[in-house]
Amino acid sequence: MRKVPNFGDDRQKGFCVHCGGPAQTKDHAPSKVFLDMPHPQHMPTLPSCSKCNNGFSDDEEYLASFVECVICGTTDPTQLQRDKVRKALKRNGKLRKRIENSKREGETANGERLLTWCPEDNRVQSVVLKLARCHAAYELNEPQLHEPALINVFPLLTLNPNQLQQFETPPDTGGWPEVGSRSLERIAFDGVSIEVGGWLVVQKGRYRFLAAGAGSVIIRGVLSEYLGYEVIWD
Ligand SMILES: [Zn+2]
Repeated sequence: MRKVPNFGDDRQKGFCVHCGGPAQTKDHAPSKVFLDMPHPQHMPTLPSCSKCNNGFSDDEEYLASFVECVICGTTDPTQLQRDKVRKALKRNGKLRKRIENSKREGETANGERLLTWCPEDNRVQSVVLKLARCHAAYELNEPQLHEPALINVFPLLTLNPNQLQQFETPPDTGGWPEVGSRSLERIAFDGVSIEVGGWLVVQKGRYRFLAAGAGSVIIRGVLSEYLGYEVIWD
């Protein structure tokens, strides 16, 4: 990713993007646990208080690991593809057990083995909300400290073709971003390659998102091309 300076309104900067507290540390968005090595250059960072910055890491490790286990159909570290998750589950037996316990084995009508996994919704939602708050602050210069109107998290393969198309198509907000916000800089510099509200690919196959503002703020993202989310603030 190219580093794009934020020339937006200064009143929107200088505080923790999660709780409005002091800007004591820098928080990566997305967190590195969702990406593989080598990391992209110029990863966006957001001001964060120490409490918020540390508070998410267990849930982030859980979600990254959970998604990888679902994709690979196992919690056995030797059978996982992502190196970071392999290491995490080798190191953290408790986490592996917790994910293993959320696995349900059944059979399809044809007698084929069917695995379903039940995520811990509160942890998933907390991570998704964190990601969305970071993208809203960084991309749109519109920090969202209040609760969103909607948080939706779903495996992409549970969407029907219409729902999928709707999800993939940037919303038409009918508006223009604030002068100086990163979205506007990107249109100016990148021309048609990245449009307002278009998807930004942080690491191919691992993480992409879109941020659209004007009236409401809409953030969508996809982890490992498996798990989609949408967060909306009115
Ligand atoms: Zn905070």
